[in-house]
Formats: sequence, structure tokens, C-alpha cells
Amino acid sequence: MVEGNKRDQTFLKISELWKSFGNFVALQDISLEVHEGEFVCFLGPSGCGKTTLLRAIAGLDVQSRGEIEQGARDISSLPPAERDYGIVFQSYALFPNLSINKNIAYGLENAGQSKATINARVEELLSLVGLPDQGKKYPAQLSGGQQQRIALARAIATEPGLLLLDEPLSALDAKVRVSLRHQIKELQRKLGVTTIMVTHDQEEALSMADRIVVMNQGVIEQIGTPIEIYRDPKTLFVADFIGEMNQISATVSSHNTISFGTQLIECIPHTFEPNAQVIATVRPEDMIPQSESDRSSAVSDNSAAHENALEVVINDMEFLGSYWLATLTSSETGDATLNANFSMNAVRRMDLEIGKSLLIGIPADRLKVFLRSESVH
Ligand code: ATP
Repeated sequence: MVEGNKRDQTFLKISELWKSFGNFVALQDISLEVHEGEFVCFLGPSGCGKTTLLRAIAGLDVQSRGEIEQGARDISSLPPAERDYGIVFQSYALFPNLSINKNIAYGLENAGQSKATINARVEELLSLVGLPDQGKKYPAQLSGGQQQRIALARAIATEPGLLLLDEPLSALDAKVRVSLRHQIKELQRKLGVTTIMVTHDQEEALSMADRIVVMNQGVIEQIGTPIEIYRDPKTLFVADFIGEMNQISATVSSHNTISFGTQLIECIPHTFEPNAQVIATVRPEDMIPQSESDRSSAVSDNSAAHENALEVVINDMEFLGSYWLATLTSSETGDATLNANFSMNAVRRMDLEIGKSLLIGIPADRLKVFLRSESVH
């Protein structure tokens, strides 16, 4: 377990890193610090440069410019073999002709350790990844999830300072993916090894990472904890890429109000000028259906809940198990359809059904605006 003070120490520092392939710039001016014992995910759409960045850290794709320091050592121009990391690829990449024991022992044998030490370590690693009796088998005799656990055991065998995971769960089916997600996270916590995982799966990043680096077209859009990234996206790209987000065209009225059509709505304070054209964003779970009684008590309180309500019609409702996904339209928001998550309780209590008109309360502190010109790529 990593102690609190160790957590704050920078273990990996990337400074002004660029990578070009011919004329194509895959990474632009990437700077970031990873703390000791931290689990960081590089998250972004296909082609955003996350694998290129991981490969630069590993020395597998040398950067065009910029520096990388690991544990205060400048590793920028070191070959992979002289860097201190273990790596797991999406494709497991186990040696098919070697037994599981031999696969795990590979790095230890290269390091010249004694047979007895190697055997004991392999046994320890096999039980650490929950496959204690599988050492004599060959990779093809294991399932995908089991092979990936062996790849993980092989990667941590020599106790590297850094664990690099390149989409390690993508090739697995959904159920195995979720269970392995927990196992990797638990193992990482137990070992306290600084870990970087590349993924395009936001759920994976949100559930596993201490911090997420959101990338887009070769640049970092935002670095933050999962909650910061989800709750307080700094760009429209992050707002759009992480989770579900309604986007409504609006016009700025004041530093904390915007208008949709004729309706004035309070939002998170911003710095845009009056009349600026913006995109207002609000998550489906923050669209709160208001009953008649909510409405009359809000009117009598003159509360913001009433002020920040939008009249909508339910266009469609889809039952998703733990909640209903409702598609809404409003004369105030033009053609835009809005999504709202309604609890089973609210649907029952308020008789919510297709065709019904109702007021949706939007808490001002959940409505964030971005300039409309800040297009989402
Ligand atoms: P994915 O999830 O699809 O792997 P990614 O975010 O990991 O995407 P990268 O593999 O880092 O993306 O690639 C970033 C960009 O660099 C892509 O446009 C890719 O086509 C390009 N690229 C990567 N490797 C090379 C290469 N060896 N030669 C030329 N272009 C490359």
C-alpha cells in the first residue's frame, strides 16, 4: 500500500513531448506528471495518440521532441531494455510455445536469478493473479481472461517501477472485462505500483483510474480525477466524450444566466459576454421531473427550482432496468431532443408516459456553458 506522502511524489514526468510520423503530428506538446503509486488512464477516441504516448514512455516509439523522466532519471533516449517497466498488451502476447511457468519466468531468467528463486516467485505470482495451479499449461489451454492475468503476472514479475497497460481488457468479453477490471485495480493497490493504462472505454477509466488524462487529436484536453472529469468538464469535447450529455444552443444573458428561446435559465457562472452564442450542457440524470406539488411549493417559495424549469413533452420512454430513459422535446429548445433519466419511482408517482407535458427542473449548478465555436471534433 502506498502511503499518502509517497503519493504526492512525482514518479514520471513528461515535458513538452511531440511525436510526428512523417508530416502527421500524433502528439503535440504533451506535459504531464504521474505520482508514485498512482493509477492513471489515458482516455480518448481512436487515433487520439494515447498508444503513441504509452509507447514513447516505453521507448518503443521514440518521441520527436521532449523529455521523459522516470524516478528522477532522464529516460528520454534510453532503449526499452534499459527502462524500468512491465507492459501488458491487448493481445496478451504470451509465448505460445512456452508453458505458463516459463512465460512468467521469462524476465526473471533474463535477470539471471537462481532457479529456486524463480520457481518461488512464479508460484507467488500465479497465486497473486488467482491461477495457482495453471503453471504447467500452455497459453492456448487458458481462456482470454486467464491469459491476460498471466500476461499481468509476467509484467510485474521483476517488480518494475512502472506498469504499462495497453488496452488490456479490450479483447475480452463484457463479463470477464468487468471482473478483470476489479482484479487489476486490486492488484495495483496491493502492489502500489505506478500504473498507466490506455483505454478508449470511459467506464473502464472512470472505475479504475485515480486520475484520467483525456486526449483528443494529439493534445491533452483535461487531467483530473474521475469525478472532476465527469462533474466539471473543462471543454465541450470532454463534456461530450465522457458520459451522456444534453447539449442545448443558448444565448448568454448575464454572467450566470442564459436563454433558450424565451426562457431565462440560471447556469454555472461563466465569463462569456452577453449575447454570446453558447452550448448549454446538462446530464440526463440532472434533469429532474417536477410534479404539480413540486411546482406549487416552488412557486410559493419562489425557489430557483421553479425558475430553472423547462416545459417539455415526453416523446419516447425506454425502460433500462434501473431507470427510464426519456426523450423530451421543448418548444424553447427548437429541434434539439433532450434525454432525461427518470427513476421508477418518479414514473409511477407522476404517471409519466409518452405524450405527457411536464416541467423539468435543471439545477443551476449542473448547467455548464461552453462557447458554440468550440466545436467537438
Ligand atoms: P487506438 O485506440 O485506435 O489505438 P490511439 O489513440 O491509441 O488509437 P495511436 O495509435 O496513438 O492512437 O495513433 C495516433 C495517430 O498516429 C493515429 O492517427 C495513427 O494513425 C497515427 N500513427 C500511429 N502509429 C503510426 C505509425 N507508425 N506511422 C504513421 N502513423 C501512425
